[in-house]
Amino acid sequence: MSGKSIALITGVTGQDGSYLSDLLLAKGYEVHGIVRRTSNLLRSRVEHLRNDPAIYGQRFFLHYGDLSDATTLRRIFRKVRPSEVYHLAGQSHVGLSFEIPESTCEEVAMASLRLFEICRDEPQPVRIYHASSSEVFGDAETAPQHEGTPFRPTSPYGCAKAFATQVAHVYRETYGMFLCNGMAYNHESPRRGENFVTRKITRQVALIKLGRASELVLGNVESRRDWGHAQDYVEAMWLMLQHASAGDYVLATGESHSVLDFARAAFAVVDLSADDFLRHDTALDRRSEPARLVGDATKIRNVLGWVPQRRFHDLVREMVLADLALLESSTL
Ligand code: GDP
Repeated sequence: MSGKSIALITGVTGQDGSYLSDLLLAKGYEVHGIVRRTSNLLRSRVEHLRNDPAIYGQRFFLHYGDLSDATTLRRIFRKVRPSEVYHLAGQSHVGLSFEIPESTCEEVAMASLRLFEICRDEPQPVRIYHASSSEVFGDAETAPQHEGTPFRPTSPYGCAKAFATQVAHVYRETYGMFLCNGMAYNHESPRRGENFVTRKITRQVALIKLGRASELVLGNVESRRDWGHAQDYVEAMWLMLQHASAGDYVLATGESHSVLDFARAAFAVVDLSADDFLRHDTALDRRSEPARLVGDATKIRNVLGWVPQRRFHDLVREMVLADLALLESSTL
C-alpha cells in the first residue's frame, strides 16, 4: 500500500458493507461509510464498530448521504478523498424489485452512474468496485456462467444491474477509470437480511427448535442457487482493487443447491427433519426466475488467486447456530 489507504463504502450497513469494513479496518485502512439519514444505526450490522471508541471516529467514520443526491455525495467525496470506493448500496432484493421496479432502477442503475460520474471528477486516482450481480445472466443459455456469458436478466433488479455493469465497462474503456465489476452470486451469512430465503430458513429453524414456531412456509423449493459466504466475497472485492489493472470477475462457488437442500441441511443442524415442517405457499412463488444460475470463477482464481474458503454445509451450520444464539439471548 502506498500512503494511507482510505476506503469509502456505499451500503456500509448492509451484510457486505459491514464485513468489508471489518476486513479493511483489520488491514489498517481508514474506512468511511455512507448511510441514509433514515437508517436506524441502532442494532445495525456496524454497531460493534460504532461502539468501539478506539475505532469509531478514529479510523471508522459514517457520513449521512443519499445516492439520489449528488450534491451531498460530492461533499462527502471532497471531505474524504477516497483511494478506494466500494459501491455496494441499493435495493438488493430480486423479488421486491417486481413490486418497486422504478425505485429499484433509480437506486441500482441511475445511482451507480451518478457515483461513477463523481469518481470521474476526483482529482486523486480512485479505484472503484461495483457490486454487480449474477442476476445479469438471468435466463442464461449456458451454465456455468463466466465473464463472457451474455446478459439476459429476468427481473427489474437484473436489468438495473446489467445497466450499471455496462456503464462501468464503458467508463473503464472510455475514461480509463479503474472500475471493477464483481458479478457476485448469492452470498449469505448470519448478517443476511431476513427477507432472503437462507436467513428466513435458518431463523425459522431456530424458532422451531426453541418451540416458538411450528412450520416453515416457502415458495419454490426446487429453485437452485450458487450460495457462497459473504466473508469470502468481500475478500474478493478487496483483491480486485489491489490488482495492477481493473477487470470484471464472476464471484461464485461453482456449486449449486436447491432451496430444499438448504432447508434440509438447516433442519439437520438441530436434528430435525425438514419434511415435518415445510409448507408451500404459492403466493411466495416468483413471477419469473433465473434459469441455471451457477458461476464459473476460474478467472478470479487464476488472476487473483481467490478461492472461497467456506463450504455450503459450514455456512448453513454457522447461520443456524447464530440464529439460535440470537433468539436465546433475546429472551434473557
Ligand atoms: P435472490 O436469488 O436474490 O432472489 O435471493 P432469495 O434468497 O430471495 O431467493 C432465492 C430463491 O429462493 C429464489 O429462487 C426464490 O424464489 C426462492 N424462494 C423460495 N421460497 C422463498 C421465500 O419464502 N422467500 C424468498 N426470499 N425466496 C424464496
